[in-house]
Amino acid sequence: MTNDFEKVFDAAAETQDYTGGDGLLYCGSCRTPKQFRMDKPPMEGRLLPRRCQCEQAQYDKEEAERKRRKHLQAVEELKRRGFTDSKMREWTFANDNGKCPQMELAHFYAEHWETMREENIGYLLWGKVGTGKSYFAGCIANALMEQEVPVRMTNFSAILNDLTASFEGRNEYIERLCRFSLLIIDDFGMERGTEYGLEQVYNVIDSRYRSGKPLIVTTNLTLDSLQNPQDTAHARIYDRLLEMCAPILFTGENFRKQTATEKLDRLKGMLAEQKKGITVAAADIAGKGETAHD
Ligand SMILES: [Zn+2]
Repeated sequence: MTNDFEKVFDAAAETQDYTGGDGLLYCGSCRTPKQFRMDKPPMEGRLLPRRCQCEQAQYDKEEAERKRRKHLQAVEELKRRGFTDSKMREWTFANDNGKCPQMELAHFYAEHWETMREENIGYLLWGKVGTGKSYFAGCIANALMEQEVPVRMTNFSAILNDLTASFEGRNEYIERLCRFSLLIIDDFGMERGTEYGLEQVYNVIDSRYRSGKPLIVTTNLTLDSLQNPQDTAHARIYDRLLEMCAPILFTGENFRKQTATEKLDRLKGMLAEQKKGITVAAADIAGKGETAHD
């Protein structure tokens, strides 16, 4: 009985703060000082508070958590402003199915971002529909925004809409686009070639060029058609693009078709389980999955 009481008493005594031989207050738990003595005038000899080891550890833990939350907030805000479509948030290296042979170059770009930025190197991602160009660009966008780099991923139909509806004025809008460290224009060449449209496309591309910041473009146009434009209005746009962006050919198979086929097979299977003979109807759906562009 006496023994137990002494144990409890000793434990309490151990966690009590105490004054050390040097006159400083010590923490009873970690036995490191909670005070320090000023060694310079005018306050020489005064005792001031400091964190003991366990208080410091707790402080560091909270500080790391605060930083982590702040980072997540910053990334969230960048992605909210950076993407025209929230589905682009899913286009990440982590979600990649590993089937696009060019993906290595997306990793390379994100990993060498500082050099790409300094040397103003962009990509011109070209090739057939559904080969994963937009996904590739989205992976770079997500990876950079996760490092708190401001990226804007948009397309010219959205830009032209905004320019028409914009109250802030075209120049301000284009200036704002050019403030993003990386600008990604998806589906270049899909916009209708009206004179007004072409003029605005040129304004955006030329402003970006003059900003000295990199641009990534995805397009279904061929490199040959970009190098041999039909008229001077297109030529001045394409020339700028080819000056800023390294062309990368997407050779892969059509992932959309593949996904559509897989989905169709799954659907057929499901239907077959339920009822024989309905597969004919499923075959009709097949043609409809292939029209989407990337
Ligand atoms: Zn302590």
